[in-house]
Formats: sequence, structure tokens, C-alpha cells
Amino acid sequence: MKVLVINAGSSSLKYQLFDMPEGKVLAKGLCECIGIPGGTITHKRPGKDNYKTETPLDNHEVALGWVLKLLADPELGVIADIAEIEAVGHRIAHGGEKLRESCLIDDEVIKYLYSIVKLNPLHGPPAIAGIEGCRKLMADVPMVGVFDTSFHSTMPEHAYIYPLPYELYEEKSIRRYGFHGTSHRYVANRVAELMGKPIEELKIITCHLGNGSSITAVNKGKVVDTSMGFTPQEGILMGTRSGTIDPTIVTYLVSEGMSAADVEKMLNKQSGFLGVSGKSSDARVVCDAAADGDKRSQLALQILYYGVQKYIGAYAAAMNGLDALVFTAGIGENDRDLRQAVCRDMDYFGIALDEQCNATCPRGEEVDLSAADASVRTWVIPTDEEFMIAKDTARLADR
Ligand code: ADP
Repeated sequence: MKVLVINAGSSSLKYQLFDMPEGKVLAKGLCECIGIPGGTITHKRPGKDNYKTETPLDNHEVALGWVLKLLADPELGVIADIAEIEAVGHRIAHGGEKLRESCLIDDEVIKYLYSIVKLNPLHGPPAIAGIEGCRKLMADVPMVGVFDTSFHSTMPEHAYIYPLPYELYEEKSIRRYGFHGTSHRYVANRVAELMGKPIEELKIITCHLGNGSSITAVNKGKVVDTSMGFTPQEGILMGTRSGTIDPTIVTYLVSEGMSAADVEKMLNKQSGFLGVSGKSSDARVVCDAAADGDKRSQLALQILYYGVQKYIGAYAAAMNGLDALVFTAGIGENDRDLRQAVCRDMDYFGIALDEQCNATCPRGEEVDLSAADASVRTWVIPTDEEFMIAKDTARLADR
């Protein structure tokens, strides 16, 4: 079964065509600068040269039109006809309170997604544009929505309700939702498979550390807490986001004359690695500057390491134990110094790395990094959100 996975951002659209159930990637690519000048498409097929073209991409529908054309192109394509695509899976950042599991997309679902755009103003509209575009171009093909929030919907009330006036939850849907759920779900299930145990018997902490970062506690297969909250702003220090701060800093800055929009911009785009180091939002640049002796870059890294350690401690307490710790995403998968720094002095929790294994662990592989006598198994597992989306899509569309 050929399944197309779409991940639509505000000015970009990523795609992957899978052959399911094997999960073989037939082609993938990226459309950039949608709705702004400089439209570019990069189309990749395993074992073949990449194809790149520059063309105006006025909107997501135009971009999707290109994707379908390329996939079925006699020279560049991987299928003879777009009719071979039997289902489309859409990555959707926010499922609100109602969309707690991946589901087939119908008019009702689209209506609900429109109703929660307010909760997700950055990612909601492009996701809907991707769905609407597919509906026009592939009218009869079943579509499935896979939500970043849904894995977290099992959190107990005491983890998702903020200690604010309760009416804010009832009337304005203000609560912890959590994000990166598809990634946390993938690596949590994968670590259980790799450890040869049912997920229902494990206490797992998954650390998704990339440009955006979040940490999740998964007890017996169910999320009990996660670091991102009402928005992806909460939690640990990220590329340009502050993570958790004293909320009074916001009102203080507003009282000092800063506009609410500027405060939001500062928290979202000018904080985190970028704000503290003053160098970059990119972990690699910050790591290099720190290695060259730059004090603020060293500080930014220390804040991140300390933040990750605090969540591990809190979540081990929340689950009354820990069996597996997983690092994933750009930083988690590639930054051995981070893994070493986070796991150092954590023997109280039973966490200890085999330093040699951590230092030499090859990129892109699933590796148990733990010291032989550690009671907690610490893994690096490359995430694969697209495969998870394709899996859900094939399952739901095949009914
Ligand atoms: P996104 O959240 O956009 O999906 P990724 O998961 O791709 O992001 O992670 C991007 C981050 O991973 C960047 O900060 C990048 O610098 C970092 N990263 C990638 N490779 C390395 C590396 N070898 N060492 C440290 N950080 C890395």
C-alpha cells in the first residue's frame, strides 16, 4: 500500500512516499518558500541523484500539485500514476481536547481543526491548507490526521491542569497539551521492542532534543507527564525558545513598556540557545563556540544539561522508578557530550553510560549506551515520525 505523508509548515511542506507495511521510503522531499518569493523543491529518491528546482509556490495546493507531478513523473517519479497512492497521512501539531487519537479526516474533523486554530495559530492554518489542497487534488483518497498532542492525552488531570482559576480550562481550554507526541510514541515503543519487553511493563523517559525539545514520562505505555504545555514554549531551553520561566517576567516587561507581541517574539524567537549564547540557535554552533572557550555558549549548554537532568529526576519521581531513558532528535541523537553531561552524576537514579560506547556510537543507529551494571538502560534511538504517521495512516485507511 502506497502512503503519502505530508507535513505542512507555514512556508514549507515536507513529503514522504512509503510502501507499507514494509515502511520502505520510495521518495521524499521538501517544498520551501511557499507563499513567499524563492520557491524551491528538493526531491529525493533512494540511490538516485536529488532533483532540485526553483519555481513560484503560491500556496500549499500549488506545492502539492508539484509533489504529485514529481512522484508520478516518467523520469523523476517512483510511481506510474498518482492513483497508486492509496492514502495520505497528515502531521497535525494540535488535536485539541477532542482529537485524542489518529483518525480519518472528514468534514467534522476539518471543522474542529478550524475551531482550534486559536490554540495553534502558527501550525494550524498550514496543516489545514495541506489537507484542503490534498482534498482538491486527490478527492477520493482517504486521509488520516496524526496529531502531535494525542500521545499525551492519557496524562492525568493533575499533570495537565495548571493551578490557575479553573474557568480558564473550562472556558478557554488552557491546559497542558504537550507536543512531539508522535516522536515520543515512536521511540517509547521502539525501546520496549529493543529491550524485548512489553511497553506495559516499563517506566520510560523519552528526551526529544532538537530545535524544539521536550521530555516525556511514559509509564506502562501511557504518558503521565510531558515538559511542553499549553504551547511548545514550556519546558527546557530550546534553540530560540526560553522554556519555562517565571510568568511574572512577562508582566514585568509589559509594565516596563514592552508590547505583548514583542514579549512573545522574545520568548519564542530570541531566547534559548540564541538568547543566552548570543551566537546561534543551532546547537552545533553553540557547542563549537563553547569548545573555543566562549563563556555564554558554555552557560547555554549548562542550562540545557541541568534542565534535562531536572526533568529526569522529576519524572523518575512521578513514576516511582525508571527502566529506560531515550535520547532522540537532532541533538539527542548526535550530541554525545550532551548525553555524557546529562547522565553524569545520575548514578543515584541507576543511570550510567558506557562512555566508550557513547563516544563511538555511530550516527543513525539504535544503541544501548548504558554501563553494564546500570539499572536504567539508556538508549539513543533515531526518531521516525513520518514512519509512525504512515503506519497509523495505513491502519486506519485499510479498514
Ligand atoms: P527540529 O526540531 O527542527 O526537527 P532537529 O531534530 O533536526 O530539529 O534538531 C536540530 C538540532 O540538532 C540543531 O540545533 C542542530 O544543531 C542539532 N544537531 C544536529 N547535529 C548535531 C551534532 N552533531 N551535535 C550537536 N547538535 C547537533
